[in-house]
Amino acid sequence: MSRPLALYDNYTRSLRPFEPLSPHGEVGVYTCGPTVYDYQHIGNFRTFLFEDVLKRVLEWNGYRVRHVMNITDVGHLTSDADTGEDKMEKGARRTGKTAWEIAELYTAAFLDDMRRLNMEEPAVLCRATDHIPEQIDFIADIEKNGYVYRTGDGMYFDTARQPDYGHLARLDIKGLDPGRRVALSDKRNPTDFALWKFAAPDEHRQMEWDSPWGRGFPGWHIECSAMAQKYLGDFFDVHCGGEDHIPVHHTNEIAQTEARIGTRLANFWLHGYFLLQNDAKMAKSAGEFLRIQTLVERGYDPIAFRYLCLTAHYRTQLNFTWDALDAAATGLDRMRNGFHALTDDGSATDAAATGRFTDHINDDLNVPRALAVAWDTLRGDLAPGIKRSTLLAFDRVFGLGLAAWRPPQTSVPDEVRALAEARAAARKTRNWSEADRLRGALHAAGWEMADRPDGYDLKQR
Ligand code: AMP
Ligand code: ZN
Repeated sequence: MSRPLALYDNYTRSLRPFEPLSPHGEVGVYTCGPTVYDYQHIGNFRTFLFEDVLKRVLEWNGYRVRHVMNITDVGHLTSDADTGEDKMEKGARRTGKTAWEIAELYTAAFLDDMRRLNMEEPAVLCRATDHIPEQIDFIADIEKNGYVYRTGDGMYFDTARQPDYGHLARLDIKGLDPGRRVALSDKRNPTDFALWKFAAPDEHRQMEWDSPWGRGFPGWHIECSAMAQKYLGDFFDVHCGGEDHIPVHHTNEIAQTEARIGTRLANFWLHGYFLLQNDAKMAKSAGEFLRIQTLVERGYDPIAFRYLCLTAHYRTQLNFTWDALDAAATGLDRMRNGFHALTDDGSATDAAATGRFTDHINDDLNVPRALAVAWDTLRGDLAPGIKRSTLLAFDRVFGLGLAAWRPPQTSVPDEVRALAEARAAARKTRNWSEADRLRGALHAAGWEMADRPDGYDLKQR
């Protein structure tokens, strides 16, 4: 018997056995989606990949999953709290497009990247701007319950009305710097947050709506509480996001939901830890902005990034380096080639290896250990057909697409080979501009080059 699934719940700060709320129904999973004012960086995708693996592990355990993900296309201010500009309006100014156009553009780019990473699509993908009435109803209900007050710039949630406010983050409310109160404007408590912000008369926002309180737009947190409740009910199984969501966004989602219906919205609260760049926070605004497309342009298969994420536990931070990505690409390459050398003879999976694999993934998604079981299986002395079917089963969780991958084969003209060799050399010394130039030359000659750690593949366009 394998170990039953246990997940680390941040609300109770404990590893808890996973019991679905509805034993015969679907497991409800809500994951906070992208803010579509720009491309997502690879850090964002580390969180989305953790959530994809979580879904696959639930499915491995026999559950049907109903996954809901929102698209934040209004209300997320440049700080995660109530100060700064709406990221969408700012993105619109930066690009010269309308806020609606950039929402469209970056949502499409996000979905493309999801596909390139072999991620399963959510059952429901819901936009904040398509759910303004639901958010207004939500605010109206909690206003009736006495949690809402008006300030000069919006309708705010009174966190002092909730003795348990901040439980998820273990916030030390009394210890909050009283100096912050000076900058509170007319907020009653430092932790109070906006439910509805008024459009300033001189602001000329592109996204604003009428409401019982005045023309304006919803705060960022209310969209998730409203859409999660609409699509998954008053209390569902799992809610996820990145670790940055613990102190503000998820804390406030819980506060609002308790104020409306008296639940903490989800039974389990799981958070993916950050991908760092040069050991610092990866920000869209600072440093080199690494997208999935950046990796592709530098010759990496996006699945190598997926593999890299599988090598670290989701509750540890991971520092991104090109060396780490090279190592992941090597691992992926060896696994793909090793898998393809095995013939499919219809054998069953190996029960012992599968048991060990299940023990690890069910131990709060210990995927790095599960990956080690896959390597032991590939290198061990089981019959090839058994290895193959066992690895194929494991790949339902890893999502590396082992079965679909084909080793590339083409005969290549000498001059094309010479360009490719020069590019491989430039890439080795990380001379990206020369590598990009040679890639252009190859492209002009009608060839695409995909780098592998121990060489490269060429294919005709
Ligand atoms: P955003 O587009 O800013 O709303 O973020 C989308 C998701 O990415 C959220 O779940 C964030 O918590 C998560 N996230 C943001 N930065 C990082 C990072 N450096 N590493 C991992 N996840 C991140
Ligand atoms: Zn959210």
